[in-house]
Amino acid sequence: MPRWMNKILDRIGSPELDWIQVEVTSRCNAACIYCPQPFIGPKQHMPFGLFKNLLPYLGYTDLVYLQGWGEPLLNPDIFSMIRACKAKGKRVGFTTNGMLLTKETIFKLVDLETDIISVSLAGTTPATHDRIRKGTDLVKIIENVGYIQQIKAQKKARHPEVHFSYIMLASNLDELQATVGLAKGLGVEQIVGSHLTWILNEGLGPEALFNLEKEHQGFSGILEATVAAAKKENLIFAFNIPALQKQEAQCTENVCRSCVVSVNGHVGPCVFTSSTLSQENGQPLAHLFQSRLEPCYPLSFGNIAHESLTHIWEKKAYHQFRDLHDPGMTMPGNLSLLPQSCRSCYKQEG
Ligand code: SF4
Repeated sequence: MPRWMNKILDRIGSPELDWIQVEVTSRCNAACIYCPQPFIGPKQHMPFGLFKNLLPYLGYTDLVYLQGWGEPLLNPDIFSMIRACKAKGKRVGFTTNGMLLTKETIFKLVDLETDIISVSLAGTTPATHDRIRKGTDLVKIIENVGYIQQIKAQKKARHPEVHFSYIMLASNLDELQATVGLAKGLGVEQIVGSHLTWILNEGLGPEALFNLEKEHQGFSGILEATVAAAKKENLIFAFNIPALQKQEAQCTENVCRSCVVSVNGHVGPCVFTSSTLSQENGQPLAHLFQSRLEPCYPLSFGNIAHESLTHIWEKKAYHQFRDLHDPGMTMPGNLSLLPQSCRSCYKQEG
């Protein structure tokens, strides 16, 4: 079949995704204590030319989320990327450490009708937040979130929606509930709590909530109180910790209806299997799993540099992978067929 015809068919058959996550950079201006950022290499921005390869195949994708193991606002092409997605009628969002949200940048993001800006937090006091999210400054971040609301009001814009993305660790959970008041005061509409599942080293083991079984009752109490406080203020507080919520362990990354494109164009199910998690010499980084260091085995089903997203999504190996993660199709014994990266992952386990 001629190539042009393949292209047309691939556009028509584009995957139906709730979201696609695109790692627009692997560089960062911060050094959070739980993040592998300082150890990954080589650090790079996704070129706009590579990003554009995705666009024809987003016909049935709802949200493009410009996020990976780096700070998206560092990529100088971020505005062109948002513009290109908006021109296709897509919702666009990203998570940021909040340090680069200058007034000039916010004006551009508002003008582009960016849909979601999620700002990362690790505490509601500077002492806690700045200790964990090294290189960032809570006072400055709060000031910048205030600018977003000011500029939205000035331009009578409904968007972007501002969210908080709170990393819940054992040492900062006591400040979680205070995010509700902070969010309310700053016009933040949603708080998303994530917990530590990718553990960089032994020292961080005690920060992972699911690891501290004796404290689960106390943690659950804080989570319940935060849910109630958020509800009272008409805010959304969302989190997912199977071990604390007594749910069946299952990958929480929606891998059957989403995918991640790494900074070099590889397509895989999640950021934990991204080839970005490798050292300068190409060897995978390691993470702590059940008291041992496990390599982060990369998982790529193809590369958008030379294949269409549709072609990658429809590959037999990718279908088989998704079937193993599909709760409707997975038999208990099938879990042993999962790739090693999933078998040594707390998103599946915890
Ligand atoms: S279980 Fe597999 S697909 Fe899910 S987050 Fe872990 S490594 Fe990724």
